[in-house]
Amino acid sequence: MVGTDENLSVRDYDTTLDSADPGWRERFHIPPFVGAPDAPGVAYREVAYFAGNSLGLQPVATRAAVDTELDRWAEMGVEGQLTGPRPWKDYHEALRDPAARLVGALPHETVIMNSLTVNLHVLMATFYRPEGRRTKIVMEDIVFPSDGYAMASQARWHGLDPAEHVIRLRPREGEDVLRTDDVIARIRELGDEVAVVVFSAVNYLTGEWMDMPAITAAGHEVGAIVGWDLAHAAGNVPLRLHDWGVDWAAWCSYKYLNSGPGALAGAFIHERHARDTSLPRLAGWWGTRTDTRFRMDSDFDPPATADAWQMSNPPIFSMTPVQVSLELFDEVGMDTLRARSLRLTAYLRTLLEEAIARLPVGAMEIVTPVEDDRHGCQLSVRFRTDIHVLADTLRDLDGVIADTRNPDIIRFAPVPLYSTYLDCWRAADALRRRLA
Ligand SMILES: *Cc1c(COP(=O)(O)O)cnc(C)c1O
Repeated sequence: MVGTDENLSVRDYDTTLDSADPGWRERFHIPPFVGAPDAPGVAYREVAYFAGNSLGLQPVATRAAVDTELDRWAEMGVEGQLTGPRPWKDYHEALRDPAARLVGALPHETVIMNSLTVNLHVLMATFYRPEGRRTKIVMEDIVFPSDGYAMASQARWHGLDPAEHVIRLRPREGEDVLRTDDVIARIRELGDEVAVVVFSAVNYLTGEWMDMPAITAAGHEVGAIVGWDLAHAAGNVPLRLHDWGVDWAAWCSYKYLNSGPGALAGAFIHERHARDTSLPRLAGWWGTRTDTRFRMDSDFDPPATADAWQMSNPPIFSMTPVQVSLELFDEVGMDTLRARSLRLTAYLRTLLEEAIARLPVGAMEIVTPVEDDRHGCQLSVRFRTDIHVLADTLRDLDGVIADTRNPDIIRFAPVPLYSTYLDCWRAADALRRRLA
């Protein structure tokens, strides 16, 4: 099953690694690998899945949990709203505590609702209120496009030209990732012109984990609001949103949170804002107090919690996968998970570096910072060859699933819940063979 030919392998795969540090793979459906007959990887029955940063794999427990709710609907109709172990009208409350533990928040600071880009807008509706000199949004230039569109449209929504009011920070010439000091210096330079600082906590392209406490503090120093997009951070790196004083954050649940394509997203609002029920917001009936909601009063009466940002009653069949997923994160614990993540990613990096050493200079290069506090599980790798051809070959012939990001990056995310050391070995070995 594993290469032992000295000429072929990066190094022989050490089968003790996975038995000594097994992860929680059996809790997930791992897609099968149906390779071409003459493919060297054909002996593998499962793919080596590195795309959990794009779409996490399905937990085995998800289907039965969703079926339970479907059954309840079939058997109870509207009564399911009020009765049973988890009545639908209160369903979101079951997700509050585990979501808070995941991002380092107090329970009343988090809510699961909507989708990520929608939450960015919903939170910006409250927290971006340009006034006088204070009009600017500061963000990264290498950004997931949705966030770029969202922030530009927020400026326009307020009648401001994004070219002038959205400041996008680029890494230094010849560098791939932003330096914390440069970000902080720019925020200080802009001073009281900054309304909102909003960055991706872990960059989707480079895998860089920003220094969240330092950048949050720098934003506050100039009187700005600081929000974080946790799309690639939630379930990937340890977070302490409350203690860091973050004003707001939003994340999706289909990447590291394994809750299915287009899954419901999360939002965090620090209690110092949540307590202020007079804040402007886009309101709906699910944001009013639960004890008076069904009186159907005309007065909007929000609780002093993140729940107040909810607009609609939540889609239960989409809440269930998030609930199942968060239960597993609770069971494992972020600290345990992160420890395995660091071991797994360090192993992949070592193997890739060994492969790089045997390849022509520049053929392959790791872009993601090496320091533990500067990355999550993802390694972004730059190639000189056509990344689309390479990724297709890895997928079809080697069963290694990793996604491309133009112009020259392939992202490999060994996910600590279900990825293995063998997966990492397969990726490095396949790359070395395909690039030789
Ligand atoms: C994945 C991702 C998105 C996706 O947005 P949706 O609203 O969930 O479709 C947005 N922003 C970032 C930074 C992402 O990584």
